[in-house]
Amino acid sequence: MSATPQTILVVEDEAAIAETIVYALQTEGFSAVWKTTGRDALAALRAQAVALVVLDVGLPDMSGFDVCREIQRLGPTPVIFLTARSAEVDRIVGLELGADDYLAKPFSPRELTARVRAVLRRSNGAGSGGAPSAAGWQHDKARCRISYHGQALDLTRNEYRLLGALLAAPGRVFSRDQLMSAAWDDPGAALDRTVDAHIKTLRAKLRVVAPDDDPIVTHRGLGYSLREA
Ligand code: CA
Repeated sequence: MSATPQTILVVEDEAAIAETIVYALQTEGFSAVWKTTGRDALAALRAQAVALVVLDVGLPDMSGFDVCREIQRLGPTPVIFLTARSAEVDRIVGLELGADDYLAKPFSPRELTARVRAVLRRSNGAGSGGAPSAAGWQHDKARCRISYHGQALDLTRNEYRLLGALLAAPGRVFSRDQLMSAAWDDPGAALDRTVDAHIKTLRAKLRVVAPDDDPIVTHRGLGYSLREA
């Protein structure tokens, strides 16, 4: 009768810290997978359903920032950064990376699990591929399919990734940069208006399904969000 525990991927090369985190998560009823490198973490993400990633910025093989970018390309999985340096905090808080939260070391295990719960609540289980995160939506990550009012949408790859990012956090305003890194393999090469153009085609496809609904909200000068239920 017990529900399947949500899996949290812990990416941290310091064993002592990782063990503390894994223990705290398991105590709180989560299933935890521990990886020490960015490469292994991304392989784990491709292999199994992960509800949230706890990601150290300083990893031996690649920067946590780059890992985060890759994670967002794979799908809208929430990320909590762990950082030891205040310079990194500035970058995370600038939210160029679309991280959902961060913790500065040292932190208490209790603080970590509280943040994990808060972020999961906010993303409303979307990271596990379970419940729809906003009214009328269904995101089947295994099949890379998004349905709107019961109708599967015929989306291009970039439209799918873009909408997936918005769906992961209804109400949250995403900048064009954030949407670009979520949806494009080479975000540097894409222009701002590429995002705008894709939002436009997305809206057209959604209008076909529900003419009176306009679930993508434009925030002038800021970006886009998905209307909350
Ligand atoms: Ca480290």
